[in-house]
Amino acid sequence: MNTEELLRLLACPKCLGELAALDLEGKTAGFACDACAVVYPVREQIPVMLVEEAIPREQWDRDHPGMRETAREGA
Ligand SMILES: [Zn+2]
Repeated sequence: MNTEELLRLLACPKCLGELAALDLEGKTAGFACDACAVVYPVREQIPVMLVEEAIPREQWDRDHPGMRETAREGA
């Protein structure tokens, strides 16, 4: 399953909004919800879509410099 397919399936568990993939060194490292200002991390290539596991966007940006954001295509 590629990132675009994942983005179509995944929604923020908190607000059910759309997510943006955050790429780090060619791999998806997390999925960001702009509305909630949080990032759901990808661990062992599995997106962790749990509100309790969400990382504040501010903290994520500090911990992951040089990350690229991929907006959902066609959104
Ligand atoms: Zn959200």
